[in-house]
Amino acid sequence: MAELRFDERVAVITGAGRGLGRAYALLLAARGAKVVVNDPGASLKGDGVDSGPAQEVVREIASAGGRAVASTASVATPEGGKAIIQSALDHYGRLDILIHNAGIVRRAPLKQMSYEDFETVLDVHLRGAFHVLRPAFPVMCEAGYGRIVLTSSVSGLYGNHNVANYAVAKTGMIGLCNVAALEGAAEGVKCNIIAPGAVTRMAEGLDTSAYPPMGPELVAPVVGWLAHESCSITGEMLVSMAGRVAKAYVAETPGLYRPSWTIEQVAEHIQAIGDIEGAWALPAVPSGQADHIRRSFEMARRGGSTR
Ligand code: NAD
Repeated sequence: MAELRFDERVAVITGAGRGLGRAYALLLAARGAKVVVNDPGASLKGDGVDSGPAQEVVREIASAGGRAVASTASVATPEGGKAIIQSALDHYGRLDILIHNAGIVRRAPLKQMSYEDFETVLDVHLRGAFHVLRPAFPVMCEAGYGRIVLTSSVSGLYGNHNVANYAVAKTGMIGLCNVAALEGAAEGVKCNIIAPGAVTRMAEGLDTSAYPPMGPELVAPVVGWLAHESCSITGEMLVSMAGRVAKAYVAETPGLYRPSWTIEQVAEHIQAIGDIEGAWALPAVPSGQADHIRRSFEMARRGGSTR
């Protein structure tokens, strides 16, 4: 296959000063993209400002012969999101790719999690996604082209201890992605999710000595493909961890139809309700929600199984 390149494409990557975002920025720039390296240089918990990380990545890209500009605005506010997108338009006159990757972590058990820690994490991850997507989406639709990658996590798919804020944000990303994929479908705009796993500073405090190789550079090609013109999917989720690349998706069991239910009948039939044989996997695009409703109604009309 010929090398997949990004010549003439302009990419905004949030949280690109370190870790995974940096790897995405270096890869896209090496393949010809002009990159807005967004990063306010926050601490792992989201405090402080340091223009160093974004500027350093821009220097790395420039010294390898690529083109990039630093943006130190925060995704956590509508104004910051707007400024990040405007930076692409001001410097390069267009916007083809948006990778929302910025992230922070504030761990606490659910019993103790403060409202401040809950809101601050949502501000960067989930509201941050909206703050950049909202100004970017009309620009992409107007141009009839766009590639959007939002960042979820296995914590969003499966949950984890001490991360109620983070898990909520990462699951919320899936809802946002589905809608962007649906509304962008007729406009040449695709939106997908990456659920990455890599040893970065987010692994601080974990013993990673027995982990297999899992640097950010193992994830970057997956995001690179999702950001490329040839990306053939939308409204989907790819997982990439320690060299394994897979698709995650939502599924539901065919379930059981009865014209009426009692609590006791739910109890009696819970195994059949949960039987995964013939499970439904209904992609968001083109019509997951409508397919769900149609199939459910069909079952009611037939008085039973649609298997
Ligand atoms: P990282 O801490 O190395 O990088 C995150 C970057 O986001 C930092 O450079 C930080 O300054 C930046 N950032 C923080 N607040 C910001 C803000 N308000 N605006 C813009 N940028 C901001 O972490 P990472 O591991 O590279 O994580 C990247 C993304 O991948 C995050 O969304 C994270 O939740 C997600 N993720 C990572 C893993 C993993 O295994 N590393 C697993 C699942 C999901």
